Amino acid sequence: MYKHQIFADTHTHTLASTHAYSTLTENVRYAAQIGLKVLAVTDHGPKNKDAPHEWYFRNLKTSVPEVLEGVRVLRGVEANIMDYEGTLDLDDKMLKELEWVVVSYHHCNCTAGTLEQHTNAYLNLAKNPWVDVIGHSGSPDYIYDYETCIKAFREFGKLVEINQHSFHVRKANIKNCAEIAKLCKKHQVPVVVNSDAHFYTQIGDFPDALAMLEEISFPPELVLNSNFDRFAEYLKMRKGIVLK
Ligand SMILES: [Zn+2]
Ligand SMILES: [Zn+2]
Repeated sequence: MYKHQIFADTHTHTLASTHAYSTLTENVRYAAQIGLKVLAVTDHGPKNKDAPHEWYFRNLKTSVPEVLEGVRVLRGVEANIMDYEGTLDLDDKMLKELEWVVVSYHHCNCTAGTLEQHTNAYLNLAKNPWVDVIGHSGSPDYIYDYETCIKAFREFGKLVEINQHSFHVRKANIKNCAEIAKLCKKHQVPVVVNSDAHFYTQIGDFPDALAMLEEISFPPELVLNSNFDRFAEYLKMRKGIVLK
């Protein structure tokens, strides 16, 4: 239902995260080839074991052109949630400079806590003005009060990610992903469907994520990366970026 309309993949890795295997150029060329208009490059924040140094992020916008092969490259990060307060592994000054900020829990940076602790972290992240997307948050280890937080995501304009990669490598997340999506539908919170690609051929390929959304009759207008005008409006209002 949504596949033909999706024009952006907003969570992808390059070999700067060393458990991914394609260069930025290979990713962008492939994105152009399959007709995407926007590609966010979101390598892991510097505290992940496979991550680039923070200089990589400082240098990203000055080195990588805005548009390559006709694709608008959003120069961003998948920042690590480091604790139960929602602390991230790049400071505000650097996050502010980046064009797309996904935030995720990874086990190597923060051990799983309690539902209350994760809820606290996500509520603080909802209020963090530099955060755009709540990344793969369906992990049973990092369970949180979905309804309370999803209402906060709506209040503060956050996007919730439906992550294709979770259907393969984080299978325990699948049930929770559907529950999160149902609550996004109930509270009218926009989602982005992402590949979380670790190799270029995975870019723009989200069959399981889309099938899950179809199964719960998720409203197409809430899939932000299938709606160019709403996505452009989001970038303009929140990031000062004009999509051409
Ligand atoms: Zn991740
Ligand atoms: Zn990722």
